[in-house]
Amino acid sequence: MPAPGENLRIDSTRLWDSLDQMAQIGPGVAGGCNRQTLTDADSEGRHLFASWCKAAGMTMGVDTMGNMFATRAGTDPEALPVYMGSHLDTQPTGGRYDGVLGVLGALEVVRTMNDLGIRTRRPIVVTNWTNEEGARFAPAMLASGVFAGIHSQDYAYDRRDPEGKRFGDELARIGWVGDEVVGARKMHAMLELHIEQGPILEAEGRQIGVVTHGQGLWWLEITLTGKDAHTGSTPMNMRVNAGLGMARITERVHQIAMSHQPNAVGAVGQVFVHPNSRNVIPGKVVFTVDIRSPEQAKLDAMKAEVTRAAHAVAAELGLGCAIEDVGHFDPVTFDPDLVKVVRGAAERLGYAHMDIVSGAGHDACWINRVAPTVMIMCPCAGGLSHNEAEEISPEWAAAGTDVLLHAALEVAEVVS
Ligand SMILES: [Zn+2]
Repeated sequence: MPAPGENLRIDSTRLWDSLDQMAQIGPGVAGGCNRQTLTDADSEGRHLFASWCKAAGMTMGVDTMGNMFATRAGTDPEALPVYMGSHLDTQPTGGRYDGVLGVLGALEVVRTMNDLGIRTRRPIVVTNWTNEEGARFAPAMLASGVFAGIHSQDYAYDRRDPEGKRFGDELARIGWVGDEVVGARKMHAMLELHIEQGPILEAEGRQIGVVTHGQGLWWLEITLTGKDAHTGSTPMNMRVNAGLGMARITERVHQIAMSHQPNAVGAVGQVFVHPNSRNVIPGKVVFTVDIRSPEQAKLDAMKAEVTRAAHAVAAELGLGCAIEDVGHFDPVTFDPDLVKVVRGAAERLGYAHMDIVSGAGHDACWINRVAPTVMIMCPCAGGLSHNEAEEISPEWAAAGTDVLLHAALEVAEVVS
């Protein structure tokens, strides 16, 4: 017996057409988009999205961070709504689908429900989170962070772009300061569809990534202190070579990440060598270590191992060693019941799927702190994102949105 609604599909042509229309606003220079947050183009994109929501019979609410919430009524006005969405802002040389697919896919889900006359007990809300990218105003995921109580609104309003313009002033200038208190809305669940921004799904030939976790991370800054000396006249046994220490620790970071598979990663990214001269043994090296894991215990173990290894290497070479924490993000565990709903939807629809960990941060990572949350991913070509050449196929977009539709129907409870 097929489950109810088993054969329902979204209208992939309409979805693709809407993605294309949105991409015309704030076009990039190489086929992508430059629709940075709180620019005139951002405002224009918001107006287009709002007009589509109105045409789909939804009512729009906007909060004081400019977050947009378009509601399709449920049959039970008392029931907590099911939220779906992502972000419409882009990087300065961004793609057409990062974030946008999650918003317009959610809109397509509502349009499909309208076409088919489907009613749900819970209201459905399609959301556009302000300034997910953090390109113009750092940090990323700013407005969902305020919604989830990570940042205060005052902190957010005082962020400045490279020209010194304040976030709060620019939000007012483009006319999108709403009247709702940020974070006042309560959610039954939040579903975010997003492109993978990595190469795994395409390489594995899967259409759907069921996102179970988000990576947690530590950024450590290590300073090794040795002694500047002539590379020609200093005997090998008399050198205190901070560069050598950095090289050995870099190798250890790689080994430590390899020993915590699956999903753990680690690398030395930024290196400052002093005095950085070809005939001087480096007397000082400052470098950053980036380690990530979706599991708190593994992340903590990796941090301890890197710290121990760095001190051991420094002691062996006679180097001074100072380690500073310069960044941290807790791992995210998405709601296990919602993960099951997404996996089941992909299964019923016959889409090849796999569990996946999000390597990047997303609005869902913050909202997960205040509501049961899950993410659905679809592949992107070559894993390329934050690049105007970012590409997905209409089939991938449709598959992700079909899964979003079926997950939403289940969680919002179809009324027959
Ligand atoms: Zn994004």
